[in-house]
Formats: sequence, structure tokens, C-alpha cells
Amino acid sequence: MRLGEDVRQVEAAGIQMLHVDIMDGHFVPNFTMGPPITESLRRLTNVKLDHHLMIEDPDTYAPIFIAAGADCVSVHYEVCRNLDRTIHMIQDHGAKAGVVINPATVTGLLEDVLDIVDYVLVMSVNPGYGGQKFLPNSLKKVRQLARIRSERGLDFAIEIDGGVGMENIAEVAKAGVDWVVAGSSVFRAKDPAQAVRDMHRTAQEAFSVKV
Ligand code: ZN
Repeated sequence: MRLGEDVRQVEAAGIQMLHVDIMDGHFVPNFTMGPPITESLRRLTNVKLDHHLMIEDPDTYAPIFIAAGADCVSVHYEVCRNLDRTIHMIQDHGAKAGVVINPATVTGLLEDVLDIVDYVLVMSVNPGYGGQKFLPNSLKKVRQLARIRSERGLDFAIEIDGGVGMENIAEVAKAGVDWVVAGSSVFRAKDPAQAVRDMHRTAQEAFSVKV
């Protein structure tokens, strides 16, 4: 009921994307929203809608979410039998395509798709619930991906999802992350808009120290 209010608040604070977690009750135990929420969000905002499909059958549902208004769609490495084909299918439907790896999935498995994906999403918690603690191993993965990207002259974005807040955003930005997903650290803050601005500023400061 308060979706519009929440969106306007963080939009005014300068977010560049809304990350929408789609869960099917199979790949992860939880259920979340379906395409009607994507349509509502599309009507509420012009910011990009990033859809993270934590579902067993992304090939069926990715086109449905894209038709509903998703700009970016990421699929889990762990469920895609024909990942190359799935990535191309998402791009052919007009969205940016991302691949997601769980904490137990090694980055090396993505070697042969890094030249076609638009972004890689590193899970820094096990998918399925908000409010979990950040797994530090994920920064090693981000650094590996950033190194491969520069060695091979590729341009995919690196996204991180889970347990990122004021206490670790500097470290996350320094490791080479381009897109930070923040849920609890924003919407459970007293002032969500201020939380967004604080995290932005801290990330930018950390990033400019690195270069
Ligand atoms: Zn997510």
C-alpha cells in the first residue's frame, strides 16, 4: 500500500535503479511479487527496474517481467542449463542481461559468458531473505571479476546483493562494485532517503581514494 511513497522517497535521494527480488518458493523458500508489481512500479517511476530472478524457470518468466517493465533481468547460474541462450534471449527481448552467482558458486564458471553479459551479480548472502549478514568471501569474487574485466578489456558491470550497509559500503566500492543493492540498510533506516545519500557519498569517497 505504501509502495509509491517508498519509491518516491528513495528516488528523490538519487537512486539510479530499483532492485526487485522475484522469488518462486522453489529456488528459494520465500515467495515475493509477480509481474503486476513490476507494472505498478513501472507506472510509479522512470528509474531503471532491475529484476533479480530467484526462480527455477527464468526462461519462461524473464520475457513476462520484461513485458511488464523490467529494464535489467538477472538469472541464477545455478538454474540455467543453457545460460548462453538465456542471456541472449533476455537481450533479444530488449533488456540488459545479468548472471547471478550464489555464495558457493565460483566465479571461474562464468568465464565463457563474461563477454556477452551486461552485468554479473555477486550474492553476498544466500538468496531468499532480507536482513542477512554480509559474507566477506564475496569481495574476493568481486576483485576476481574486476581483474578479469580489465585483463580481457570487457565492460560488464559488477553488482552486489546482500548485507551491504554503511559499515561495509566503502570496502565494497573499493573492491570494484558498480551497482550496490541495499534493502534493509535503506528501508529499515529511520530516514531511508538519508541512508541512500550517506551510502552514495561514502561509496564515492572510497572509490575516489582507490583511483
Ligand atoms: Zn536481489
